[in-house]
Amino acid sequence: MFKGAGRIAAVLSLCLFAATQSANVAHAQYPTRAINLIVPAAAGGPTDAVARLIAETMSRTLGQQVVVENVGGAGGTIGMARVAKSAPDGYMISVWHIAQATAPSLYTNLQYNVTDNFDSIGRIADVPMTVVAKSTLEAKNIKELIAWIKEKKTAVTYAHAGIGSASHLCALMFMSAIDTQMTAVGYRGTGPAMADLLGGQFDVMCDQTTGTTEQIKGGKIKGYAATTKQRLAVLPELPTLDESGLKGFEVTAWHAMWAPKGLPKDVADKLSGALTAALKDPKVIERLAVLGAEPVKPEQQGPAALSAHLKAEVAKWSPVIQAAGVKAN
Ligand code: ASP
Repeated sequence: MFKGAGRIAAVLSLCLFAATQSANVAHAQYPTRAINLIVPAAAGGPTDAVARLIAETMSRTLGQQVVVENVGGAGGTIGMARVAKSAPDGYMISVWHIAQATAPSLYTNLQYNVTDNFDSIGRIADVPMTVVAKSTLEAKNIKELIAWIKEKKTAVTYAHAGIGSASHLCALMFMSAIDTQMTAVGYRGTGPAMADLLGGQFDVMCDQTTGTTEQIKGGKIKGYAATTKQRLAVLPELPTLDESGLKGFEVTAWHAMWAPKGLPKDVADKLSGALTAALKDPKVIERLAVLGAEPVKPEQQGPAALSAHLKAEVAKWSPVIQAAGVKAN
């Protein structure tokens, strides 16, 4: 060993120690600036509604603004790619949904791996979906609606929020269950799709109750059926598709929060702690209930439970999507 090597090694390890210490201090102080929350769908839709509700309470807990940014398009994959490629420093997070589980089966050129490129922060809520239509549609109930679609076939237009979105998945399953194709109209999220449905610019849509409940109750659109096995507490008059002849039909969208892979543990803990606190906030609980969404049980909520749920959902939807024979690219 050359002379002075011991001193250089000592200086180097001192530098390393100082760097680790200052990183630890930086984490301990986290967050010191606003946090960017990507919603990979347009503003005004179901995911946006849930994300903004959570962001408001998380901002209070973390002492910094959690700022929602809508990055819609390509069934949410543009926004989620942005998150996957961001620095894992806790200043970039996202709220998305079941499409995180369906994207790998639908997109052959997906820019990211849904399990390997993200850290799970926590699951937020399960959200039933509803079959809705423009207010001028004549069908009086779901049976008449199905008969009308079967008669008109591709002359009927349906909206979705991009290939692989929940509205797309639900419509695919519905069309397969009634063995009839309709014509798709794509949007960057069901917020703008709902605005067009109010104007009668397409016929039908399947969307989360967080986007449809208030419009159905207000008589602005027609609600025909729920996609869950049980009727909905918020819209009990809607029959389920299962009880309406489409035996076994069940699609529930679920929302969760993710961050880029590699978050420092204390940052991850702060984020999931703030999310848990948000889900205990009576205002959040009440608003989710009004919109027909169910906050998940505490044991299903944390990062490990979300990772397990995502894996199970990827495995569940892959054969369904393969059988439906759809691909996004
Ligand atoms: N509801 C949308 C979907 O169908 C997404 C959204 O706009 O929140 O996936």
